[in-house]
Amino acid sequence: MATNPERQIDGDAFVLPAATIAGATFSVADSEVCSRICNASTGDTIGWQEHANAELVDRAVHAAHDALITWRHTTPAARGRLLRKIAELLEADRARLAAMQMQVSGKPPFEADLDVSDAAATFNYYASLCEDAAVFATEPVAVPDDTLLAERVHEPVGVAALIVPWNFPMVTTAWKLAPALAAGCAVVIKPSELTSPVEHMLAEIVSEAGVPDGVVNVVNGGGEVGTWLTAHPLVDKISFTGSTASGRKVMQAAAQDMKRITLELGGKSALIVREDADVAQAVSLAVSGAFANAGQMCSATARILVHDDVYRRFMAAFETAVRALVVAPPADQAAMGPLISAAQHARVAALVGQGVEAGAQIAFAGKLDAACHAGYFMAPVVIAEPAADNVLWTDEIFGPVACVKSFRSDDEAIALANDTRYGLVATVVTNDAKAARRYKAQLRAGLVWVNTPQLIFPQVCWGGFGLSGIGRELGVAGLRSYQELRHTVGLRA
Ligand code: NDP
Repeated sequence: MATNPERQIDGDAFVLPAATIAGATFSVADSEVCSRICNASTGDTIGWQEHANAELVDRAVHAAHDALITWRHTTPAARGRLLRKIAELLEADRARLAAMQMQVSGKPPFEADLDVSDAAATFNYYASLCEDAAVFATEPVAVPDDTLLAERVHEPVGVAALIVPWNFPMVTTAWKLAPALAAGCAVVIKPSELTSPVEHMLAEIVSEAGVPDGVVNVVNGGGEVGTWLTAHPLVDKISFTGSTASGRKVMQAAAQDMKRITLELGGKSALIVREDADVAQAVSLAVSGAFANAGQMCSATARILVHDDVYRRFMAAFETAVRALVVAPPADQAAMGPLISAAQHARVAALVGQGVEAGAQIAFAGKLDAACHAGYFMAPVVIAEPAADNVLWTDEIFGPVACVKSFRSDDEAIALANDTRYGLVATVVTNDAKAARRYKAQLRAGLVWVNTPQLIFPQVCWGGFGLSGIGRELGVAGLRSYQELRHTVGLRA
């Protein structure tokens, strides 16, 4: 990260404060750490992010802790009204929010716009859960003694630390913030230092919607800020999205105080093209599954398994589609944008180099549009038949790199798809309903799509098996992950 204590503020560059705590912004002295915020399409510095220090993190957690005293006792209906208002304001501010995402991340317009829709849909969904009295009701529990009354109730878990990466900043934050607020938790958000302007705007919207000061606080900075948060004794719950390596550290930090955790980590997911598949549809799903958001997705289906009978046809059509992908700065014709940073570009390029060195063959690659003069663009790359132990087949690349392998039977495809320590998602392309049922039952993944793009609804839980994490976001389970389950048993009055 380009930290630069001697920052030069020039032109239109902005400076984001180190923290927003109980409605007030806090700056740090020039001598403290601050990092560049770049435009991923140009590499230009568009602003600076001040980093919070340990004292500000402590203040933010205390602010959340204090706000919780009254916030946790607000009615679900009142919280639901605020969530609806946030969704409304997001929709109203759609153009500005999408523009910021395009500027910081270089997302094509349709992807930036989709992120705003997803965030608004998430707030609306949790508003509707708040409006459903049954979701928050104290429920009777049947016990084999009529003289006793047993009940269960879901209560807010307390102060939640929400730690977010850079790939879908607005959406990932919404997936955590909306259920946390619905449950009655107060939060401290730690955005990625690369994309914090997005959360900054979101926090302004939350405040404008009328969420009381102190319920939502933001501390900015790098991993160190995350470690202060995860170690803080007044944090009751950590919801983290990011790499499996950082997820392990978060889990270790959480162990000290038995903090509740939700970890949404990496993936190495499969897309399976059966012999009866519609090849054109399979290609379209392969392109979006591997190259949406320039492949920087935990759910990237970057292991593509294709039945021998359709392999040649698939590869020919896939090559045509990949060569036609417009990799360009955000503009209407852009289908794929840049990687987020120079460091991410170097990391992905090094992994491709390592994989090729170990014998992986590049079958074909896309190209960059003439408009890509600078920034962190990388053309999509397709590898054919990598060895089972090649890094490009085994590791999460988080860039526009897809591997294709052929298979001869459903048994083999299922075994190949499940041969990973991750287990986030999978896609199956088939016109055989019986086969689809088998894949749905046997693929070891938190979410399986059949003949659809990566549709994500707030009603449907998100999360995976194995190294892909612990717990589920979205859906009712996403709300419950911000609640403690409590029972009472007593003599009936
Ligand atoms: P990280 O896992 O390092 O970061 C995710 C978030 O956690 C960021 O806000 C980061 O801060 C913060 N963080 C980092 N270390 C800690 C820690 N010990 N305790 C608490 N918070 C911490 O991901 P990177 O951004 O470094 O990306 C590296 C790789 O991770 C990617 O190339 C990709 O493979 C994977 N990744 C996976 C994601 C997913 O959705 N599954 C999302 C992002 C990355 P900061 O980044 O500001 O330093």
